[in-house]
Parts: sequence; structure tokens; C-alpha cells
Amino acid sequence: MEQKPTISRRKFLKLSSCSLAILPVAIIATDRTRAQVKAKKEAVNYQDTPNNGQKCVDCQLFQPPNACIVVDGDISPEGWCSLFVLKQGNATSD
Ligand code: SF4
Repeated sequence: MEQKPTISRRKFLKLSSCSLAILPVAIIATDRTRAQVKAKKEAVNYQDTPNNGQKCVDCQLFQPPNACIVVDGDISPEGWCSLFVLKQGNATSD
């Protein structure tokens, strides 16, 4: 006759609590991985000044007050990079 594997109640609770303890670490690790997807400023020719009237504050990817969805680090509202995407309804003529 085949014997079923058994697990004690104490062992089950211990394993369950370990799993719950690991969950927040896994979530944080996932968030950090996501953050590392951002481009380095050098890779997108970022500069702290506008380029031909284009500036971060007018870009769809800008996150006020000083961040960007796709570029890493502090981003000036007056900056610019090669990934610039004009916000809908904005014009860049000076
Ligand atoms: S111009 Fe570049 S750095 Fe500035 S908000 Fe847009 S994508 Fe980000």
C-alpha cells in the first residue's frame, strides 16, 4: 500500500510564513528592475538647455517637477534629449 506524504501543521505554517516574507522582496526587486530600464542621459544626448525651442516641460514623457518616464536622473524642465515627444496641443515655435 502506498503511503501519502504528510506535512505537519507546524511545518506548513512555517513554510507559509517564509513565502509571505519573500513576497515584498520580490516586489521591490521587480520595481528596481523596471527603474533600470530608463536610458542614461548620455545615451539620449540629454542637455540642461532647450534645443530649437524644444524643452522637457513640453515633452509627453516629462514628469514634473524634475523626472522623465524614459530617462534616468534629475531632468530639468528646460532640458532636452533626442527622445523628445511634443505634448498634444503644444507648439514649439519661438
Ligand atoms: S525631452 Fe527627453 S529627457 Fe526631456 S522629458 Fe522628453 S524624453 Fe525625457
